[in-house]
Amino acid sequence: MRRFYLIALLLISSLLLVGLLAWQAHYAVSSHRHTAESVLGDYADLASSEFVRRTLTEIGYYGYYPLIRATRAWAVENPGAALVAPADLPADEEQARALELASYLFTYDARTGALETSDPELPAALAAELGRRLEALVEDAPTDGSYASVFAEIEGEMHSFVYAAGDVGQTPPRRLLGFGVDLSLLGGWIERAVGRGPLLPPSLSDGELTNESIFLEVILGEDQLLYRLGEPYQPWFGVEKPFGDSYRGLLEEITVRLAIDPEVAPQLVIGGLPRSRLPLLLGILGLVVGLVLIAIMQLRRERALIRLRSDFVSRVSHELRTPLTQIRMFAETLLLKRVRSPEEGQRALEIIDRESRRLSHLVENVLQFSRSEHDAIQLAPEPRSLAPLLSELVDEFNPLLDEGGASVVTRLVDNPQVTVDEDAMRQIVLNLLENAVKYGPPRQEVQLGTTQRNGRVQVWVDDEGPGIRTADRERIWEPFQRVAPDPGSALTGTGIGLSVVRDLVARHGGTTWVEDGLRGGARFVVELPATGGEASG
Ligand code: ADP
Repeated sequence: MRRFYLIALLLISSLLLVGLLAWQAHYAVSSHRHTAESVLGDYADLASSEFVRRTLTEIGYYGYYPLIRATRAWAVENPGAALVAPADLPADEEQARALELASYLFTYDARTGALETSDPELPAALAAELGRRLEALVEDAPTDGSYASVFAEIEGEMHSFVYAAGDVGQTPPRRLLGFGVDLSLLGGWIERAVGRGPLLPPSLSDGELTNESIFLEVILGEDQLLYRLGEPYQPWFGVEKPFGDSYRGLLEEITVRLAIDPEVAPQLVIGGLPRSRLPLLLGILGLVVGLVLIAIMQLRRERALIRLRSDFVSRVSHELRTPLTQIRMFAETLLLKRVRSPEEGQRALEIIDRESRRLSHLVENVLQFSRSEHDAIQLAPEPRSLAPLLSELVDEFNPLLDEGGASVVTRLVDNPQVTVDEDAMRQIVLNLLENAVKYGPPRQEVQLGTTQRNGRVQVWVDDEGPGIRTADRERIWEPFQRVAPDPGSALTGTGIGLSVVRDLVARHGGTTWVEDGLRGGARFVVELPATGGEASG
């Protein structure tokens, strides 16, 4: 019993250890993943900073700066002239490309507050806002030749203009000049900036990572899309970064969203982005739980079997004791000449004979059972006519019956041929007859018969006993299984008789079962393959 609990404890401990290992594995994978995710996020941040720097250079240095210089040069050379359209500004090669960014030019007189624009059709609201803003900006306007930009939302639309002092070195400037930015063109300039090379430092991945592994979205204001590269990745390891006041707030209303393709994680982080092993681990854990449960169930069955075995030993001893006591008692009676008449002496001898037969039958059963357990049964089957063999066996069995008790009659209609081992057949039939007599009423008639059908021969024993409940009809054929007729019943047994029958029959290629008998009791059937035709006999 303690061994059972010890083994169960060991199994459950192994299960707990497997659980612990699974948890460890899950923890290791998820913490690796967590690290990888934050590394990818950091790289996205790095790439977004490079993007911001590059875009500001592209637009500020190659766009706004040449444009302001061209505007100021024109204004210096043409004092008092009406403003020309941006495209008409004289420009060198570098400035020429920048001209497209301006949708109109303007000048603002700081003393009179007069605003002049190159576009006579500039919406009045825009012109008024421009005037107001410039008036406020004039004091702090850059006078060192550089420029600044302003974003304004007018009637729900975002506008931006770039301004600078008209006369370099004069503080505060007497005049401001500048241009309105055609925001719809910024996307093209951003694209050029992105196209200048990988946003991630090439050293990170030996130069293998291009911008194709990056998703990029540039938004103006709340939701106006200026530029997009690629499709957003799932899962998302990225950043959202406003240009803010970098480069004196040149593109301050613009925000960049940037993410790195999770597929390239292995090139950036050792071990890449490990997939969660949870389903696999849970699967394995479930399997182990199942195996441990099966092992424990097996253990319980084993324990029950051990208990049955130990009961078996005491049952056999008990079964042996009964006939032995009888034999000793009547032998003593004879030896001490205590018999009162020759008939009594005869009866004592008969009892001794009967009980010693029972004893040898019982011993034979136990031996047979033990042999079958060790698979050491050797059979010598020979073709036999069944009817004479069964009659012989009934003759052999009759002396085992108590006087005035049950009787056995045969119903041997056919005389089939079977190939059987005679000793085995004796064991089979005697066991069935013994059970029929034991479990049936005292003066019953037990019938032993044969039936032949479809090349199979059935030998059956039909009694007038209580029969067998359907639920027990399979169980009783197993070793040690007994069905107590009622608690406290005096009917004892070893519980191996039927298992010996089934084993021997199976070794002859036959089958066994029990069904309802014709006279209210049980009918035990042994079915064997027939050998050839009907013999006479
Ligand atoms: P044993 O008779 O020694 O108990 P068996 O293996 O011969 O063992 O039989 C198993 C059980 O089957 C018996 O305990 C009994 O409950 C039941 N059984 C066997 N034969 C009969 C029968 N003819 N009528 C009623 N029950 C029977």
